[in-house]
Amino acid sequence: MATAGKVIKCKAAVAWEPSKPLSVEEVDVAPPKAHEVRIKVVATGVCHTDREYLYEAGKGMKLRTFPLVLGHEAAGIVESVGPEVTQFAPGDKVIPLFLPFCDACDRCENPKTNFCRKNWENTQAGVLADGTSRISCKGQQVYQFLGVSSFCQYTVVPDTSLAKINSDAPLDKVCLLGCSVSTGYGAALQTGKVAKDSTCAVFGLDAVGLAAVMGCKAAMAKSIIAIDINRAKFEKAKQFGATECIDLNDHDKPIQEVLVDKTNGGVDYALECVGEPDSMSAALESTTEGCGTCVFAGWTETETMHVQVINILMGRTLKGTYFGGWKSAKDVPKLVEKYMEKKLMLDEFITHNLPLSQINSAFDLMKREESIRTVISLEQEDTADLHP
Ligand code: NAD
Ligand code: ZN
Repeated sequence: MATAGKVIKCKAAVAWEPSKPLSVEEVDVAPPKAHEVRIKVVATGVCHTDREYLYEAGKGMKLRTFPLVLGHEAAGIVESVGPEVTQFAPGDKVIPLFLPFCDACDRCENPKTNFCRKNWENTQAGVLADGTSRISCKGQQVYQFLGVSSFCQYTVVPDTSLAKINSDAPLDKVCLLGCSVSTGYGAALQTGKVAKDSTCAVFGLDAVGLAAVMGCKAAMAKSIIAIDINRAKFEKAKQFGATECIDLNDHDKPIQEVLVDKTNGGVDYALECVGEPDSMSAALESTTEGCGTCVFAGWTETETMHVQVINILMGRTLKGTYFGGWKSAKDVPKLVEKYMEKKLMLDEFITHNLPLSQINSAFDLMKREESIRTVISLEQEDTADLHP
């Protein structure tokens, strides 16, 4: 590649400060250092988590360091590799990962967890292994959200935070496997281990929840009850496999009581995909005593929830999931294959496509609850200047 070893000037949507719209700017993306890979980002989903870190920073979410390039649900093509990179070459199709898989630490070797230890603190701090970011704007370092930063035409990630995927995969679809779909699908299959013929309840029917519904269906659950406060989500939920939908607003009594009555004592599995403490308590309390399992996929970093101890003493299991429990770089290529074999749906999650220049509209659509997923194309008319 003509650009290898050089700084690339390209466009990125920069978050200069919390609670302000993103600003599309020209940025400099430095070449990859040892064990790093620079990728051309082709497509990125806009996830609720991106919105929360921008508009709810310091409330439900811890405050990250700004300026920041958000975006963590993407797919792209390797442009160049740094020294000591052996697994990737220019031209490879890839999905960057906010959760690494180093295949060497004790956690990677432990089949019970996907919490790889590699670069964890740095990733959370928005920098790469040497403590700096590869993106800068107007001479100022711009932090890399979750070590990824896909709202940028090029980005640099560690070689342990990248999955090489099928070279035929459509990047504007499989980008969703970088976060939401993998998370919800894995919450049901990997973390919850939903059993055949079981009864399931899914709380919250945006991309993560709909993917959880799809996971319950793949596990051949007998009954999949989909719950939301917005009826507009029900048609999609049925498309993904829900056998029944409940609008919270239709009931005077708490949803957990509705579910316990309806299912002869509670559901076998409850999957919480909202991220609110009250909804989390309701999900736990809607599971059956003795053997019910509740999985939290919804995210909050600062809030606490109320748990009546007796609910746990009575034999329920409460679990959390991060990235659906998948061992990222190892499992994401397999999920891509499932999509290629038409055993996993992705296209149905995408309600809007926009260019990078209109990225703030994706946040507006999300706020107005008009979208499931908006996919941003980074290959727009004002493309990167490859000859700095
Ligand atoms: P979202 O947060 O945009 O949508 C949530 C859905 O829940 C909406 O359909 C909304 O109408 C519904 N809802 C709101 N209040 C409700 C209630 N009380 N009961 C039932 N439904 C209710 O959707 P998303 O992008 O699918 O993300 C879902 C959650 O998953 C977020 O909290 C996100 O941060 C989190 N997440 C977690 C991980 C992980 O690794 N665990 C990864 C990605 C996203
Ligand atoms: Zn590891």
